[in-house]
Amino acid sequence: MKLHVLNTGFFKLDGGAMFGVVPKTIWQKTNPADTDNMCTWAMRSLLIEDGKRLILVDTGIGDKQSEKFFSHYHLHGTDSLHGNLARLGFHASDITDVILTHLHFDHCGGAIAFDTQKEAYRTVFPNATYWSSENHWQWATQPNPREKASFLAENILPIQESGQLQFVERNGLLTPNALPGIDLSFFDGHTESMMLPQIQYKGKTLVFMADLLPSTGHIPLPYVMGYDTRPLLTLSEKERFLNEAAANEYVLFLEHDAVNECCTVQQTEKGIRLKDTFSFADL
Ligand SMILES: [Zn+2]
Repeated sequence: MKLHVLNTGFFKLDGGAMFGVVPKTIWQKTNPADTDNMCTWAMRSLLIEDGKRLILVDTGIGDKQSEKFFSHYHLHGTDSLHGNLARLGFHASDITDVILTHLHFDHCGGAIAFDTQKEAYRTVFPNATYWSSENHWQWATQPNPREKASFLAENILPIQESGQLQFVERNGLLTPNALPGIDLSFFDGHTESMMLPQIQYKGKTLVFMADLLPSTGHIPLPYVMGYDTRPLLTLSEKERFLNEAAANEYVLFLEHDAVNECCTVQQTEKGIRLKDTFSFADL
């Protein structure tokens, strides 16, 4: 199995929203804000090459939203999903599976494009199975008012209409003949049934953290995003997971950290804290 980091670009989100109840005087030390209080975040996907399979985990924000929509998120940088795929010698049609951790637009927007000739939405990866879960799909397609702005119908419904959607069993792993070597665990604090892939790689356990741990700045337990729908549940899910990660020296793959691709955590007198940061290439 071979893994590759696929940077899909940077965007900005309000620092206060990203750190919930933690005051700016504290979070700005690890995540400096601009004059509009916005902080920069990565949208970092993971590409898994395994035999005949080419599996993409999350897709970034995509390019089909309106100028007005994108103006809120200040996309920047030279990275793109397709540019970086091409650099590795791959094309969108080579992707066999797309694992969507959840259907917030910064995670799944790149899964669907707008075909200007046909004037219709289409899947970006025509030969891929798109993986979600039934619980999350229902939650995302009948969104509550608080999350509604994050679940865009044009990112979600065309996946089902294409016939490429499949659900994983919440209580099981992906079926062995579908995606061997990839375990999924589910978390319900950020949104209903967010699924995090866990992969054995170079003798380590690597976990794709998605929005359970957006950046190293979110490691102390109370640093929970304002976006989370069940913040107290995130707190307990983070505590359980980070204890396990420290005990087993998991490598945490950070989708949103603007600087650090990977980190490890450790137990300290103050609780769980950062141990090391490193680039994926140094793993
Ligand atoms: Zn999210």
